[in-house]
Amino acid sequence: MSPSILGVDGLSVRYGDARAVDRVSFTLEKGRCLAVLGANGAGKSSLAAAIAGVVPPASGRVTFDGDDVTGWRSHRLARRGMAYVPEGRGLFPHLEVLDNLRVMLRGAVAPSERPAALDRCFELFPVLGERRRQAAGTLSGGEQQMLALARVLAAPPRLLVADEMSLGLAPRMVDTVFDVVRRARAQGVTVLLVEQYVERALALADDVIVMRRGEIAWQGPAAGAREQLVTGYLGGAAGQ
Ligand code: ATP
Repeated sequence: MSPSILGVDGLSVRYGDARAVDRVSFTLEKGRCLAVLGANGAGKSSLAAAIAGVVPPASGRVTFDGDDVTGWRSHRLARRGMAYVPEGRGLFPHLEVLDNLRVMLRGAVAPSERPAALDRCFELFPVLGERRRQAAGTLSGGEQQMLALARVLAAPPRLLVADEMSLGLAPRMVDTVFDVVRRARAQGVTVLLVEQYVERALALADDVIVMRRGEIAWQGPAAGAREQLVTGYLGGAAGQ
């Protein structure tokens, strides 16, 4: 068995009195992909944000590659190899494509490696090169998602935490972003994938967690889980 890269132990997130994530525990082994599924409001985004250091946990522990990183801020985690692509993509809409990439790479890659990583972003996604001087906010939704993910392939992190990458995208673009994650996996990136498209998530993931009201309602291997999940836990809202 591979060693775990991410350990989540009794993690809770609260907003005032409301508990969005309630004592969630799991481990994620190196090189694997874990899909986090569940209805709107189940706590998926809050879980991802707490792991990535964007939301402070109310209690519990997060370990990353052997270190207790509970309460670490996202920029510190990024320097250690955790890439977080939030719902809404986390771009600076008024900054040019080029400057957005520079900001992402600054947090993740040593200065000497940044020019080569930037070149790789444009090789991988030529459209970003063509639009390097364009404000990120003027790109299409799909192009913005490519921009948010380019760094993941150009400078592979050890762990990618991706929250609803496919939200609001046309089906063809959803294929593209899933393909980016597939390629990242082929490069050895471990992935935690919060997703609304159950079928696509199951096709990509090794393991699945289904959240309901802040808790893990079901967990198990992705292979063969579809029937059980759709009928038992996700109420037929399987998406594409
Ligand atoms: P979605 O798919 O709609 O993003 P989700 O499963 O990701 O849902 P969260 O966004 O984590 O769920 O929300 C979990 C609960 O926490 C919900 O009841 C939500 O209303 C609440 N919540 C989320 N963010 C905040 C916030 N900043 N302040 C207060 N409550 C919040």
